Amino acid sequence: MQITIDGKRCEASPGQTVLAVARAHGFYVPTLCYHAKTGKAGKCRACVAEIAGMRGLQTTCTVEVKDGMVVRLDSEKVRKAQRLVVDLLLSSGRHDCLSCEKNGECELQAAAYYLGVKKPSFAVANDEAAKFDDTSRFVVRDDAKCIKCGRCVAGCKNTVCNDVLDFGFRSGRTKVICDHDQPMGASTCVQCGECVQLCPVGALVDKKAVGQGRVWDLAKVNTTCPYCGVGCQVTMHVDRPRNRIVKVTGRECAPNEGMLCVKGRYGYDFPSHPERLKYPMIKRDGVHVRVSWDEALDYTADRIRTIVGQHGPDVFSAFGSGRITNENNYALAKFTRAVIHTNNIDHCART
Ligand code: SF4
Ligand code: SF4
Ligand code: SF4
Repeated sequence: MQITIDGKRCEASPGQTVLAVARAHGFYVPTLCYHAKTGKAGKCRACVAEIAGMRGLQTTCTVEVKDGMVVRLDSEKVRKAQRLVVDLLLSSGRHDCLSCEKNGECELQAAAYYLGVKKPSFAVANDEAAKFDDTSRFVVRDDAKCIKCGRCVAGCKNTVCNDVLDFGFRSGRTKVICDHDQPMGASTCVQCGECVQLCPVGALVDKKAVGQGRVWDLAKVNTTCPYCGVGCQVTMHVDRPRNRIVKVTGRECAPNEGMLCVKGRYGYDFPSHPERLKYPMIKRDGVHVRVSWDEALDYTADRIRTIVGQHGPDVFSAFGSGRITNENNYALAKFTRAVIHTNNIDHCART
């Protein structure tokens, strides 16, 4: 089917939203509550458009296309409504972009930029009561920047199924709470960081990354999480001059679709740890001495051969690991059973 957006004929498929078609054809549509993973929300009303035959402005993230639909995105009425949404959100929080951790990748900041909202035109809210919660080991919450989009709530509830976050209180006092309004560090949060990844603004940020580098200064390196056999896809945000990983985010593709566990997201200190093992060593006279791989492998093979020869194959046992590939675990099992002739093989994931 085809629809028309600002006079341009656009190919569309049944079930697609107007937002999806508009973006696929290069139109700018600001969104704050919509996220592909948390789905249609229709809360923030930043994505509105005029649609012929429909009363008032429609949220493009919720309206599905119909053949022949005529959509206006770039009208003064639409832009005025979008500017008002952004203006009200900027006015109702403490948006000190200069020092905000999200500066440069904030969706509210981007919407203000593209819509030409230079500063809040309403009296800025008194945010004295807004809580700053840094009780969690890995996540910092700043209520004064929260725009109540609900992406964190939907992510925690529906995507990772932890159900820690929800909206509490009512009206102007509405806020995101952990469990029964506990500090995050005292709640049932498992610190997976999914809510941080979904938050469009600086209301939820990774604690370890605070002050460690601006988004535009960090190199982005796509790789596979080193921890287990699931093989989650991650992006490392690297401070190249200091050769340090500053932050890890999940890539929104198979198998993890952006989700990570606490180890994958926050356990990234080991590559640059001063005590990290970087080469093989053999203990001689009580001291570990650096050797070549050939020497280390020859020494190990010789010791196994000698000990098994003296005491029989059952003195040998091997332990596989979830941190290596299936193929490596298979080779280890084959070596243990077919070469050493013992069934003493186990795996850390079995217990
Ligand atoms: S959350 Fe966004 S708009 Fe608010 S201070 Fe941070 S960067 Fe600026
Ligand atoms: S870190 Fe994970 S478990 Fe904790 S609140 Fe966020 S999404 Fe929920
Ligand atoms: S904390 Fe972030 S994701 Fe959650 S409601 Fe507030 S702005 Fe949205």
